[in-house]
Amino acid sequence: MKPFEIGQAVFMAHFGRQETFVTCPDCLGSKHVLVILGDGTEVTIECGGCDPGGYQPSQGVIRQYAYDNKYHKHTVTGVKVSTTGVEYELDNYGDGSYFTGKAEEVFATQEEAIAAGVVRKLELEVEENKRLMSKTKNARSWAWNATYHRQCIKRLERELEYHRSKVSVCSAKAKHTTDGKESA
Ligand SMILES: [Zn+2]
Repeated sequence: MKPFEIGQAVFMAHFGRQETFVTCPDCLGSKHVLVILGDGTEVTIECGGCDPGGYQPSQGVIRQYAYDNKYHKHTVTGVKVSTTGVEYELDNYGDGSYFTGKAEEVFATQEEAIAAGVVRKLELEVEENKRLMSKTKNARSWAWNATYHRQCIKRLERELEYHRSKVSVCSAKAKHTTDGKESA
């Protein structure tokens, strides 16, 4: 590609990121999923797909990002050539912000900038949202969660039973002692 010269008008896409929310594809917004364990037991657990992590409950929605793209006309004010490629310094409409554009982001016409910008917008969205959606595929860990919590419940129930039995032994002894005193 022929390099641009200082003073030349060029076009570049600028992207703004916006937060959006979509219904969780795993629980369809209900925040819970049904897991059937190996023994046929059905347990309802919090959806792992829209679990925001930490101690917050599942949300039923997943955060996504959408990018909007605007196209600006710039004037090239400087050219930087380095081992990684060509970068253009661009004017900033006098608002104090400072733009640079890589050679592959700067175009001679608005049509070219739009064509490249549409592709880049999709790439940005796919990349960002792939990361956010990746955990919704991880159903294995939710099943593990269900098993884990059931094991905890069983263990705690056994402990509770043990402690209850101790308490009843104590109260039986206390009763016995009192009875003894009374009979004496
Ligand atoms: Zn969900």
